[in-house]
Amino acid sequence: MSLARSPADSERGMSRGAFWLMLRRIAVFAGCVDMVYLLAFFALGMPVMALVNLLSASMYAAAYVLLGKRRNLPAVALMWTEVLGHAGACTVLLGWDSGTHYFLLVFLPAVAVSRSPRHAIAAMGFVLAVYLGLDALTQAVPVVYPLAPGPLMALRWLSITVVFVMFAYTARYYTQRVHEAEGRLYDLATTDTLSGLWNRRQFLQMAHAEIDRARRHHTPLVLVLADIDHFKRVNDQHGHDTGDRVIQHVAGLMRHQARTGDLIGRWGGEEFVMLLPMTDGDGALELSERMRASVEQIACQHGGVTVPVTMSLGVCEVLPGQSLDHAFKNADAALYTAKNAGRNQVCVAPLALPARPTAPQAARSTVEAQAHALPAA
Ligand code: GH3
Ligand code: MG
Ligand code: MG
Repeated sequence: MSLARSPADSERGMSRGAFWLMLRRIAVFAGCVDMVYLLAFFALGMPVMALVNLLSASMYAAAYVLLGKRRNLPAVALMWTEVLGHAGACTVLLGWDSGTHYFLLVFLPAVAVSRSPRHAIAAMGFVLAVYLGLDALTQAVPVVYPLAPGPLMALRWLSITVVFVMFAYTARYYTQRVHEAEGRLYDLATTDTLSGLWNRRQFLQMAHAEIDRARRHHTPLVLVLADIDHFKRVNDQHGHDTGDRVIQHVAGLMRHQARTGDLIGRWGGEEFVMLLPMTDGDGALELSERMRASVEQIACQHGGVTVPVTMSLGVCEVLPGQSLDHAFKNADAALYTAKNAGRNQVCVAPLALPARPTAPQAARSTVEAQAHALPAA
């Protein structure tokens, strides 16, 4: 029976180390609490109770050492034994009003989050049976070491306080794990793993919100499509790993040049997309040109090989009332023009360029866009 999760589950879990660290901290805390009890019972002239707590503190010390050696299962078994034995013995010896039975409750949060429902139910049932059994037993048999009302209340309050602290700590631990897992899921759902940029779905979601904002506030907005030139050759000549490295390199340069608030995503393969809020065509052209130049000037290094890279970009101002789809078509036409004009350059789509639904219109758009092509410096 595990305190929270089976070892196999823990292997899979990203928070495995954190769980055992939490258990180590609990072992230290519980051991210290036992030492406080030991001193208190010694002061009250109750050597047997002091010895019980010395045994408990030793068990926590052993569990701490075992956890440090990654012998987690024996450590967990020792901690279960300690809590059950200590809470059971103290409740019988000192009476129900000592409150030492409350320590059994510290199992519950860990047991409840067990990945196996059967284990959770069995462990819960077991703890409940022990709890009820202790209640019945203390009703039936007299207290072995009766305490005066003052020390009895102090002992009960100490037990309650310790259980509160343990609950607060474990609740915090599990909340943090949930937040971390949420963060990881968010990253996985929104970010492109290779480049670290927004993925296509997340980019589109944010872009739609940005277009609405620009429309509401009458602010300019620009869409840019960028594509690494002759990337297939990089893969063919240097291998796929180097190709991946080039994608990361270019993504890093783009991110470095962009301002806070600019959205950058990986559109697919070796294509990137940017949405630049509060930016007009001239500003976007300047930024795109800076990005193009930095990609050209800072070659990618990988495995001792220098891989020169260039990139072409198509820029399109998103006009009020224009759909994102329309802007994409225009930016794509501008990028197509930049490629046709020799690559390694930025091309701006003409304003109010119509969509490119049919071949003849597409050809016309390309010609118009070519007029705005900006050759490499
Ligand atoms: P152009 O200058 O016209 O853009 O030519 P290109 O070679 O860059 O474009 P093309 O579309 O012919 O080839 C793109 C290549 O990118 C083909 C594909 O195998 C490769 N690719 C797509 N995604 C990845 C990736 O994640 N990693 C690597 N290494 N290669 C990729
Ligand atoms: Mg390409
Ligand atoms: Mg491409």
